[in-house]
Amino acid sequence: MKINIIALIAFFFSAVGFAGKTHAEESLKNYKLFEHYKPATLNVLLVIDEDFDDISESDVAQMLKTAAFMFKDKFGAPAPEFKFAGRMSIERFFADNLDRKSPDFADYEARRFKVGTQNDFTQWREKILAFLKRWKIEELQAFFPEEERANYDSYEKLYDGVVAQMNSKIAEISRIKINGRSILDPSKIEYRSYQNWRLLFKQLTKYDLIITNTFILYDDATQPFPHSIFTSCKVGGFSSKSPKLTALGGRGIMANTFGMDTRIPFFIDPLQGEVSRCERNEIIGAFVLAHEMGHALFKLPDHYDHPDSCLMNNRMDISYAQGYRLLIDNPGTCPKCAIWMTARSYFWDGEFYFEQKEYSKAIAAYMQAARSTPKNIDGSYQEYMALIAYKISKAWFAVGDVAQARARAATAVKLYPWEQLYKDWQAELEKSAKLNDERQP
Ligand SMILES: [Zn+2]
Ligand SMILES: [Zn+2]
Repeated sequence: MKINIIALIAFFFSAVGFAGKTHAEESLKNYKLFEHYKPATLNVLLVIDEDFDDISESDVAQMLKTAAFMFKDKFGAPAPEFKFAGRMSIERFFADNLDRKSPDFADYEARRFKVGTQNDFTQWREKILAFLKRWKIEELQAFFPEEERANYDSYEKLYDGVVAQMNSKIAEISRIKINGRSILDPSKIEYRSYQNWRLLFKQLTKYDLIITNTFILYDDATQPFPHSIFTSCKVGGFSSKSPKLTALGGRGIMANTFGMDTRIPFFIDPLQGEVSRCERNEIIGAFVLAHEMGHALFKLPDHYDHPDSCLMNNRMDISYAQGYRLLIDNPGTCPKCAIWMTARSYFWDGEFYFEQKEYSKAIAAYMQAARSTPKNIDGSYQEYMALIAYKISKAWFAVGDVAQARARAATAVKLYPWEQLYKDWQAELEKSAKLNDERQP
């Protein structure tokens, strides 16, 4: 299935039938990186869970300052501007921004690990097996104690081991107490569920960047990430789909301080060591905020084999503090990340030319973006390709080529049938094509 789609995408964006090829070649020759990148303005909100250590406004200022510095150094582009919107209690944040009656809620609920009950994993078995097949058997075996590894010699056995691990890890976490109550107490769990945070981000309308002090449990039962469930099952930061937020191109960012501030032995990173308040703020600013901006803005994935200068490194063998040191000691951009950044730059060229009504240049740039984007990106590759196809369709329509516009709209719908915008656009094009036919009998 996956291979077919990738082949399909290659076909959709191949040069065959594409009249603007010369423009693409031209723009490649005179290419300037980030010529049309516009630094975004990000609204920042501090969300406070009273059970955990507070974050002050001056902490936030320091985090943002380091994030801006690191962004500029690592991506070679001006950093976004930050607008601090103040602080809010976590209860109010959820009350204002999470709609439990939305159709999406049931979907997230169906994939949630339910704390305090026996979870029936058989309902998720196929999904989990497909998920585990992203890795080689040996890679997954490495998460188990050495003397047990030989027992996990098939994906089915690994599935059993991973499920047992998720069950026992979450049971262990639920025995941890904060202010006399379980950290996963029913009255608190809704603010500490990753599934709820993800859905909240899908619905968020005004804050691009959330800084919080809460503990967030990794509870997507269908995707038991080994790096998460074999460590402390918590989420320290993410870049997530947020269609109503435009500053980061439909994505929002969460960064949390819990992992660095906690004194609960279970959650302490054994590699961390003593870290001052100031260092803690700088590390969060660089390692979480700027890193997540790299995901959201440039579509960079996590890397495990990039040089020490790379902000997208997600190595498990060093602490945040050690990783931060490496970034400072190895300034400048990562050469291996350049392909992602170049591809993203083409996309922004497309946006710029479209706005300038230079449609054939826009088509050429979007095509170049589609062809040069690596398959492994932050978020869904298929979804991003659908967006580009939709933009190309709009540009073809603007130059009066309805046939090309229809073909590209069909591509967008095929690649990402869940986006109503593409379906509406396709219907509109079909209607105008029909009117045209009727006018020319
Ligand atoms: Zn990451
Ligand atoms: Zn890199």
